[in-house]
Amino acid sequence: MNLRKIKEGKAEIFIPDPKDYEKQGKFDPSWAPVFYNPKMVFNRDLSVIAVSVISPKKIVDALSASGIRGIRYQIESSSSSEVIFNDKNPRSVDLIKKNVEINDIHDATITNKDANSILFEIISDFVDIDPFGSPSPFILSSINATKNNGYVAYTATDLSPLEGRAVKSCKRKYDVQNIKLSFSKEIGIRVLISKIIREASILEKTAIPVLSFYHDYYYRIFMKVMRGARKADENLENLGYAIECDKCGFSSITKEMISKCPICGNNLKIVSRIWTGQLNDQDFLVKINERLANFKYLANYTNIQNLISKLIIENKYVTNYINLEFVASRYRTNVPSRSKMIECLSDATETHFDPKGIKTNKNFDEIIECIKKI
Ligand code: SAM
Repeated sequence: MNLRKIKEGKAEIFIPDPKDYEKQGKFDPSWAPVFYNPKMVFNRDLSVIAVSVISPKKIVDALSASGIRGIRYQIESSSSSEVIFNDKNPRSVDLIKKNVEINDIHDATITNKDANSILFEIISDFVDIDPFGSPSPFILSSINATKNNGYVAYTATDLSPLEGRAVKSCKRKYDVQNIKLSFSKEIGIRVLISKIIREASILEKTAIPVLSFYHDYYYRIFMKVMRGARKADENLENLGYAIECDKCGFSSITKEMISKCPICGNNLKIVSRIWTGQLNDQDFLVKINERLANFKYLANYTNIQNLISKLIIENKYVTNYINLEFVASRYRTNVPSRSKMIECLSDATETHFDPKGIKTNKNFDEIIECIKKI
């Protein structure tokens, strides 16, 4: 394998030379013998900051590929951490060894196992699961490997099932009865959290999201894991439903199962069962915001600053977002501009999930009044 040296954050690593597969007309990094995706730099940059807030002593980078994540966590987030790098691809493992060496990482263990095997052998205070597609096959084992009050992070790129476009796949992978709604970008992450909580409860553990966001073509989520059957039972009570009425545009995220629209009596579309709680922990967001000043060198510094500022405001709204295009179409009016709607409602904000979405604590009648007025 021909190699090329690249710099990301403060790390310098070797990756397979993209020219080798590009000259065969293949342009996706999944064709490389070891995976490295430059489109995930935002994910890794923000994760480096989040891990610096967590400050773990032992990190497991369970699906390492080139080793870039674990190396960056060691160099940029938490230099006193021990890092376990793992990948089932032997060529990855050879490259991780090289990359660990050139970055002078001393406290490293590199294993060539199935992630589900190593995650049932060890305990750690931070586990990173960054798979191809769905993280579902690794949820139970990663929760098992995370100690009490530790953290686990997941990337999910399988947006079709999560956003209700591949209903059977969602049922298979997440055991959620999904359907496409106007605010499915938010529902997707709630489906993933629901699955994590249900898997954790098998182990008499539970988890709450401290950072979750949608970016580009993936979800990324950091969960705090806690032990205890009672805590698990209590948190399962926070699972519920996303509902939407196709006739009048009413929507909600609710713990109660209702089948008829409370506004017009029409049959509702229902997604069952999803996380109904907060998507982010305000303290965790504020800590990330405070840490940002140490990370001005990051390629995505400004974009991360923008996202975290949005999440801090968005997190104060406990409702789902309103898709203005969808609701306006129910009343045959023009789609109001987002800024005018926010001004009209006064208690409202943008959502990072959707450029056509707003979050508000105002009730449905007030939303419709503004849509008609603008
Ligand atoms: N975390 C990496 C990064 O930030 O660049 C990218 C990881 S890549 C998306 C997924 C990796 O998981 C691949 O290197 C693949 O070989 C590895 N993998 C897939 N299934 C696995 C399994 N069951 N156990 C261990 N590694 C696995």
